Amino acid sequence: MRLLIVGPQGAGKGTQAALLAESLGIPHVSTGDLFRANLAGGTELGMLVKKYVDSGELVPDEVTQDMVADRVSQPDAEPGFLLDGFPRNITQADWLTAMLDGRHAPIERVVLLTAPDQVLLDRMLSRGRADDTVEAITRRLDIYHRETTPLIDYYDGRVVHVDGVGEVDEVHRRVLEAVRSPLTAAGELRG
Ligand code: AMP
Repeated sequence: MRLLIVGPQGAGKGTQAALLAESLGIPHVSTGDLFRANLAGGTELGMLVKKYVDSGELVPDEVTQDMVADRVSQPDAEPGFLLDGFPRNITQADWLTAMLDGRHAPIERVVLLTAPDQVLLDRMLSRGRADDTVEAITRRLDIYHRETTPLIDYYDGRVVHVDGVGEVDEVHRRVLEAVRSPLTAAGELRG
């Protein structure tokens, strides 16, 4: 199965993505994690993206897309994958659609994980990541609202909304149920 998980920073997206990918037996492809691994490893890509990641700005689309193309072309992604943190805007979504159309392997489901703003802020401030300064958090939330929420319309008919408030296991159960629910004739997801 080929899936996306979308949600604001702090909605528990990374945690739920890891659990979902494990349950489905597909790789969890997080662009943020891939960038951070490159930063930590001091790779050429890491040096190229450092200023963007540190400040909470988006890395240029082309750089990000090349990295995603490389990752989803690896053998473990043959049966499917869960993209987390990508696409982040319509340009990236158009690119992904074109790439996957070429493989006759479109995105089948989009999980939208939501939570109220106050829950999001509390969670982000408590996770203690290096790029979790108030400025970077605010910038990422702003970018999310401006550039990422249009993806919900873009993937209309494949999107399932999941409430991200609650215990990790409970939210995971909701996510699994949503992903497994069949599409109706109208292309909407039930439940
Ligand atoms: P995240 O872990 O998803 O919050 O991503 C951390 C940082 O990585 C972001 O603030 C961006 O600088 C960069 N990043 C992650 N995903 C993308 C993407 N799809 N496009 C551009 N930059 C990204």
